[in-house]
Amino acid sequence: MELLREKIEKEGQVLSDTVLKVDSFLNHQIDPMLMKEIGEEFANRFSDQVITKVLTIESSGIAPATFLGLTIGAPVVFARKRKSLTLTDNLYTSSVHSFTKNETNEISVSKKFLSADDNVVIIDDFLANGEALKGLMDIVNQAGATVVGAGIVIEKGFQLGGQLMRDQGLRIESLANIKSLANGKVEFFD
Ligand code: 5GP
Repeated sequence: MELLREKIEKEGQVLSDTVLKVDSFLNHQIDPMLMKEIGEEFANRFSDQVITKVLTIESSGIAPATFLGLTIGAPVVFARKRKSLTLTDNLYTSSVHSFTKNETNEISVSKKFLSADDNVVIIDDFLANGEALKGLMDIVNQAGATVVGAGIVIEKGFQLGGQLMRDQGLRIESLANIKSLANGKVEFFD
């Protein structure tokens, strides 16, 4: 997605060889015009699928997921991150190790909002090692629902998550795929 690439090139800050900061439009301040385009792009990419629910994880997946939900008219559910859970009866839960924070979070989704007849698209802001995707897939599987694919705003293709999940048969649609962040420069795959 050309518009997104331009935005990353203009406003993205390379913090290290593995971490990109995009807090001016995705991770802190949100650019709603860009998010609208992103939602429409995801809708186009998955237009061959019937989607009954969009699933993401708080907090940075919520904006792109919501614009997809708005475009296709489907509800958006975000997995919540909680430190400890004592009552899990009405929740699907999974563990996700955070790449940027280097901590493991318990994530949860109420059983009210995901069921066996749902066709789910998973949305997230970044794809690095695939931990967040794995946790969200786990939750969809617990619900007995179907994952039709995952939409990622920025994939870092030099990390292994994308390949790992595609090898497991998951369809992944990335709107920007980064080849390298070496030497403070963002380089994209074609
Ligand atoms: P994964 O679970 O695939 O290892 O990492 C994806 C998650 O970590 C995303 O939900 C995102 O919040 C965070 N993340 C991973 N890499 C980056 C990065 O380079 N920049 C930012 N801002 N977040 C990242």
